[in-house]
Amino acid sequence: MKDLLVLGIESTAHTFGCGIVSGEGEVAADERSTYIPSKGGIHPRESAQHHSSVAPGLVKRALSASGLSANDISAVAVALGPGLGPCLRVGATIARALAAAYDKPLIPVNHAVAHIEIAKLTTRFRDPLIVFVSGGNTIISAYSDGRYRVFGETLDLALGNMLDAFAREAGLPHPGGPKVEELAKKGNKFIKLPYVVKGQDVSYSGLLTAALKLLKEGFRLEDVCYSLQEYAFAMLAEVVERALAFTEKREVVLTGGVASNVELQRKLEMVAKEHNAVFGVVPRSLAGDNGVMIAWTGALAYSHGVTIDVAESHVRPRWRLDEVDIPWVSRGTN
Ligand code: ATP
Repeated sequence: MKDLLVLGIESTAHTFGCGIVSGEGEVAADERSTYIPSKGGIHPRESAQHHSSVAPGLVKRALSASGLSANDISAVAVALGPGLGPCLRVGATIARALAAAYDKPLIPVNHAVAHIEIAKLTTRFRDPLIVFVSGGNTIISAYSDGRYRVFGETLDLALGNMLDAFAREAGLPHPGGPKVEELAKKGNKFIKLPYVVKGQDVSYSGLLTAALKLLKEGFRLEDVCYSLQEYAFAMLAEVVERALAFTEKREVVLTGGVASNVELQRKLEMVAKEHNAVFGVVPRSLAGDNGVMIAWTGALAYSHGVTIDVAESHVRPRWRLDEVDIPWVSRGTN
């Protein structure tokens, strides 16, 4: 939609982001700040406190970076879920306040849908099989009949969360995924670990426990990282391959924070090639959580009449991807 400018707020987990995007997908601003726990995993209340302290400054910076004032914005989009309740409430409060103060429509955005839409925008894919892997999600999805349907997911830990938990126990800093990737490149010994695929779903908790046991038994950290990645990514590749054979999609897109992992990209590209599908990855700069993807998905939703009353804009910590209607994808694509 021409002349549309949407401001998007992301606050579902560790990152507070504010992005401004046009109706044609041009990025006018991308400001963000990530809470890094001093020890352990993400503490929801501490992360929410981080978001509250950075939010006003980041919104101001996004507006000044884009050369816009709040009055120039057409609508305010906000990720209402899924995510951590205390963190979601900070983003929702800021978005509601902006919408009410400047008399702008408020647009509810599902965080998982946003990871998908930013990947589609940046790869120009129209109807891909989607592999969404982040700290909190491991989902294989494709559009069918009005929604993004789930064709496989994790039964317990998300891939990013599993890598972070392993890294934490191994004494590596957060986020652990990139550290595990770095060390895995120096590994050369393949060590047996549990491979758990159940139907179309994967399970990572047994793999994590077994990899940590190897460390205690004195195996080299580099070799354990290498083996852990090999197992975790091969399990995912197996279910992606079956979903691809079933859906017969001609495109495969990788999105979410873990999409930056080069070995995972290599494995999924091989699967896509086997099935004559093209493979694409969201750019590293937009792989992790950000406000741009919320603004872009908000623009798509708003141009199809999706808005929400401030009074009804409750956060939805467990809002599943396949519960969201997607009116902007035309029926012709599926
Ligand atoms: P969600 O999007 O589900 O709310 P999140 O906020 O934790 O989860 P992102 O910001 O999308 O997710 O991604 C962060 C995750 O990506 C972390 O688990 C991090 O370890 C992982 N990650 C980032 N880079 C890499 C990499 N190169 N290899 C593996 N994992 C990575």
